Amino acid sequence: MGDRFDVIVIGAGPAGSSAAYNLAKKGFRVALIERGRKPGSKNMFGGRVYAKPLEEAFDGLGKAPIHRWVVKERLSIVNKEEYVTVEYTGRGRKSFTTYLTDLTDWMAGRAVDAGATLITEVVVDRLLMRDGRVAGIVSGDDELEADVVVDAEGVNRLVLERSGLVERLTLRHVALGVKEVIKVDKGDIEKFFGLGEDEGLAWVFMGSVSDGLPGGGFFYTNRDSLSLGLVIYLEGAVQGMRRHIYDMVEELRIGPLFSRYVENGRIMEYSAHMIPADPRAIRPPRLVWDGLIVTGDAAGLLINMGYTYRGVDTAAYSGMLAAKAIEEADGDYSASRLKRYEEMLRNSYVGRDLEKFRGVHDLYMNPRLFNEYPALLTGLLRRLYEFDYEGYKFSKAFSEARRGLVSLPRIFLDLLEVYRKL
Ligand SMILES: Cc1cc2nc3c(=O)[nH]c(=O)nc-3n(C[C@H](O)[C@H](O)[C@H](O)COP(=O)(O)OP(=O)(O)OC[C@H]3O[C@@H](n4cnc5c(N)ncnc54)[C@H](O)[C@@H]3O)c2cc1C
Repeated sequence: MGDRFDVIVIGAGPAGSSAAYNLAKKGFRVALIERGRKPGSKNMFGGRVYAKPLEEAFDGLGKAPIHRWVVKERLSIVNKEEYVTVEYTGRGRKSFTTYLTDLTDWMAGRAVDAGATLITEVVVDRLLMRDGRVAGIVSGDDELEADVVVDAEGVNRLVLERSGLVERLTLRHVALGVKEVIKVDKGDIEKFFGLGEDEGLAWVFMGSVSDGLPGGGFFYTNRDSLSLGLVIYLEGAVQGMRRHIYDMVEELRIGPLFSRYVENGRIMEYSAHMIPADPRAIRPPRLVWDGLIVTGDAAGLLINMGYTYRGVDTAAYSGMLAAKAIEEADGDYSASRLKRYEEMLRNSYVGRDLEKFRGVHDLYMNPRLFNEYPALLTGLLRRLYEFDYEGYKFSKAFSEARRGLVSLPRIFLDLLEVYRKL
């Protein structure tokens, strides 16, 4: 590698590409280092991105690979063959579906166009330390120096771990996401879901789909494909998992909820990726050291709102704030100057939403959410709607559906918990 840069950015994901773009456009000499063959080649996500923060981080969305603007949201509670679905149709066009590989490639392209040097197929092993501060990176036998390093390596954060700055991840920290992308006819998508040409659907579901384990599923409509997948929290999975997660996704594809949409489709892609389970637990004790700023998933900035994940927008936004902090530091990259990044993050929508939704992980650890409540809800609606002659009064249907599953005081306490944490 040999050269010297003002800033080295580790990882050309949303966080790293945004940091590199925002620094390069201000005239910094930036190296954006990516282990994949091209930016995005190692990336995977569910399918929907909130647009506004991205627009701010990249000065508009220009030629971003937007597939469909989400106008329809569905939430299903599943109990084996039965499910209850709530649907919302709006016109907000606040988020869009896309392939993260293409979106990341576009983001890194913005950084390169602004003047950053993209170096691919290089794995950063650890940080280069000199006189107690970060002075660059080490990859194999090579060292590359810079005044300041932005760590945007994503959830595994092995560089930080190998450099002794964070503890090793445990099963408590992460969940596993598995996804299939299924090619289908563009017109069929619009017909099936009542969508216009560039309109999309975001659908999440929970319950027996995860075999009663903490987690859930997602389904997004892309331009001419569907993304279908599951996220399982690994903490619960070790003891409780009865089947391979791939088999669980397959069962979803051929099961009652989705089979009719995908039966004429062709699986184009299969992928798996870690996702932070409890961002509070994954967050390093601090996000700045002398000569170093940590962004995106590596900084624990993913937000699980309970009904949707947001990690791409928060990562890109944190990259932009890291660039601002570096610019403001004016050549003094000590931790005390870079602390401004932590302050800006805390005062931004990212910091506020992380705080607001910090309890969602604890909710997910309640096994009744994935077992008893889906059974109760479907049992109740089955009694209310499925009869030959005589119908049920609600109170009788409810008490029968609840029997043997969960007590009334327990329901009250769980509802209170949901109310407080969501
Ligand atoms: C199953 C699943 C579903 C999700 N759904 C959504 C969703 O619908 N919406 C949403 O907004 N978010 C979603 N997310 C979260 C989102 O994908 C992440 O929060 C986001 O990608 C984080 O961006 P990042 O730049 O911090 O890290 P990443 O996207 O992980 O990028 C890190 C980059 O660094 C590179 N890298 C890593 N280590 C090294 C190294 N040592 N040397 C060089 N390069 C390195 C990687 O190859 C990668 O390109 C989902 C995630 C998963 C797993």
